[in-house]
Amino acid sequence: MKIEERVALGRFTTLGAGGPARAFARPESLDQLDEALAWARARELPVATIGLGSNLLVADDGFDGLVVKLAGELADARVEGDKLVAGGGAPNAVCLHRVRAAALGGFEFACAIPGTVGGGVWMNAGAYGSDWATVLDRALVVDDEGARWLTPAQLGLSYRHSGLRHGQVVAGAEFTLGALPEEQIRANVARLQALRKAAQPTNKRTFGSVFKNPEHELSAGRMLEACGLKGHRIGGARISPRHANFIENADGATAADAIALMAEARRRAHEEYGVELVHEVEFLGPLELPPLAE
Ligand SMILES: Cc1cc2nc3c(=O)[nH]c(=O)nc-3n(C[C@H](O)[C@H](O)[C@H](O)COP(=O)(O)OP(=O)(O)OC[C@H]3O[C@@H](n4cnc5c(N)ncnc54)[C@H](O)[C@@H]3O)c2cc1C
Repeated sequence: MKIEERVALGRFTTLGAGGPARAFARPESLDQLDEALAWARARELPVATIGLGSNLLVADDGFDGLVVKLAGELADARVEGDKLVAGGGAPNAVCLHRVRAAALGGFEFACAIPGTVGGGVWMNAGAYGSDWATVLDRALVVDDEGARWLTPAQLGLSYRHSGLRHGQVVAGAEFTLGALPEEQIRANVARLQALRKAAQPTNKRTFGSVFKNPEHELSAGRMLEACGLKGHRIGGARISPRHANFIENADGATAADAIALMAEARRRAHEEYGVELVHEVEFLGPLELPPLAE
């Protein structure tokens, strides 16, 4: 397996911003994944895995380590009985296609989530009342200590969170689903997609929700909207005029532009509601939000 050097990461993210990875590997099997991890270990380089980059903000300076993007059999999916058996790099859309053809329901919510199985495990992705923890049986986690299957409880899944850390690669996952006629699955997906289209920017470059919803009567989006931030722009990044918890790449946005907008949004929410918003988007490379003033 080839390990490439200085690969620009922006094109692997839905925002389309960010610098290069020092090294980049696309393992197509568990053996190749072990090989990539050993390569990084020998050089004492940190490892991060990316899926479809749909929840990712990559620093403009990039990531000084090895980025792994699962491919081949590690990015494929199949149905076995009432189970979806997927590689960690399998796109949710491919999984949904497979389970629909096998008349298995329960995964329709993932039609709203443009990522991969592994990315979903990493942050317990969810929508419309379901999340990975609802349907996941177990995930195959590979790191320097080897490979092991972990249950949702062992993965520490909670609201948009897992206990996984960089260097741990979700190489595969198994989900148990229930029988549902194909037409019903299609109808569910169409309904959820229409809801999504009505509420969120669907044809823009974004990384999904910027902040987790706080414990407050207002969601993060409603709170930032009430702060008057819809359409607010810094550099090439803009808070979506449709939904204030989305940042769009309006024109050549950098990670620094996105961070500046996020800092401003946190500052305003704190000032007006006393709420400390926590970012949902994952950071890769040297990125940090400034602390809130007392
Ligand atoms: C338009 C839009 C709508 C969205 N709607 C939703 C929604 O409704 N609900 C929701 O939960 N999310 C939503 N998201 C965010 C995003 O799609 C999810 O978080 C998704 O699960 C991220 O998957 P990914 O493969 O793109 O991960 P990436 O963005 O590539 O990575 C995200 C994190 O997961 C880690 N990671 C990725 N793959 C692996 C792996 N195989 N092993 C270990 N770690 C890994 C990365 O290191 C990173 O820390 C939306 C995003 C967009 C752009």
